[in-house]
Amino acid sequence: MKRTFLLLLALFVSTMMYAENFVMIKVKNQQNLQELFAKQDINIHYYNDNFVLATAENLNENMILLDENSFASNELYFIVYCNENEQSNYATNEKNNMEVLYSNADMMIVKPLNANLRPAKNDGMIAVSNKTAKLAVAHRDFPSVAEEDAKVREFMNQVSIENLTATVEYLQAYEERYYNSTKAYDAANWIQEQFDNLEVLETEQFPVSYYGNACAPNIIAIQWGTKNPEEYVVCGSHLDSYSYSGMCPGADDNATGVASVLEAARILSQHSFERSIIYCAFGAEEVGLIGSAAYAEYCAEMGMNVVGYFNNDMNGYLNPGSEIHIDLIYPNSVEAIGEYYMNLANVYFPEMQVRQVNFTQGDSDHTSFNQNGFMGIYPFEDYQNYSPYIHTGNDLIGPSVNSFEMSQRYAQMNIACVSTLAVLDSESVSENIANNVAMFPNPAKNELTLTSDYNGNSEVQIINSVGQIVKEFSFITEATVDIKDLNTGIYFVKVVGENTTTKKLVVE
Ligand SMILES: [Zn+2]
Repeated sequence: MKRTFLLLLALFVSTMMYAENFVMIKVKNQQNLQELFAKQDINIHYYNDNFVLATAENLNENMILLDENSFASNELYFIVYCNENEQSNYATNEKNNMEVLYSNADMMIVKPLNANLRPAKNDGMIAVSNKTAKLAVAHRDFPSVAEEDAKVREFMNQVSIENLTATVEYLQAYEERYYNSTKAYDAANWIQEQFDNLEVLETEQFPVSYYGNACAPNIIAIQWGTKNPEEYVVCGSHLDSYSYSGMCPGADDNATGVASVLEAARILSQHSFERSIIYCAFGAEEVGLIGSAAYAEYCAEMGMNVVGYFNNDMNGYLNPGSEIHIDLIYPNSVEAIGEYYMNLANVYFPEMQVRQVNFTQGDSDHTSFNQNGFMGIYPFEDYQNYSPYIHTGNDLIGPSVNSFEMSQRYAQMNIACVSTLAVLDSESVSENIANNVAMFPNPAKNELTLTSDYNGNSEVQIINSVGQIVKEFSFITEATVDIKDLNTGIYFVKVVGENTTTKKLVVE
């Protein structure tokens, strides 16, 4: 009894000692943002070009105090995008679910009181957790492209309007894919099946939860790179849809993005690339970028080298009177990926207008990658005139997806960006189809067996997730090796024989 009391007292005292303030700090420019990240006495949980959200022990005149005792009773705060004209309505509707801490013309920062908090009608929300945000590494390896590449153009030419239409039709027919509904799970399973049908991708369901409740999972499909499997080029979309009330077929938001990603997988999986490519369909985007945040955090924790992330969210609504163009959304901290995208757009569609826009009224899954120190970009249909039908029962082919020609263009740009960065491996003539190497067991513990159909010498490298070679050997047709010295974790087994095969190995 006494011991329990002392423990409780200690807990109470330590909570008091470390009680920190949840604050907003306006960001003046990039240099200022870097200075804020360098400060020892604040911990940044979220940033964009305009402000950071942080915990701080001591307040100063640059800080706007949002909550004294940060993360004391809540595991998340939310940035809720909502136009100022609609804010009082929204606040009235959600008054039992949240407390408003701050608001400006475009958004509110709120503290949820339960798991029932809903996004405002149109523009989504971002969950901000107690984790520390990371700035992107300043230098990332984006090539500068002077002229078009015949193979990349060939991939782009394979994007089929028929396929895009079929995917959007299929997904809108669910009528809703609310993040934790049965139909969202069905949609996730269907997307996984489409990846599995390609046979060469390794797919997995990555669990997603929101306030401890399970949501439809992320579907992750990996195409292993042949030369640099530990470097990843990622493209993604979200599979859930949302409406404040009633149906949400989510054709534009975001069956179109899923269609772009599936089409990229269909086309690129028929070829070998030096880097690994990851195709994603994220769950629970609409309620705070929950699925992508979990996955991007996982990538950061595993030390994965994500070279770039290309987001696909809403690309089928062309504002009447406008020409097909691309509005690029990314923070200035990841300028390098913005320049890369514009470079490729210039090379492949020199007539098309592509511009960086300062979108302050919504967000998408690229932000999850940016908050975890990677470089993510979001090519958006139009930051001022996007589909007025999203998050309603009219987000359908016809009113809301009115230009599959535009969807095709976005899907082509996604493929150009991903395939150029992943680097076509012209030596691997097997084109992924012939896979003559087997590896078992997997997961493995003490030993690992490899077999190959090739009668010559196969050179093997076991590489850890940060790219270091931890074991090297060679064999002819079959070998069993001792792996007791390998730590638990993910490895790549690269086998170079007649051609190059790379497999993921999990060591337990
Ligand atoms: Zn969306």
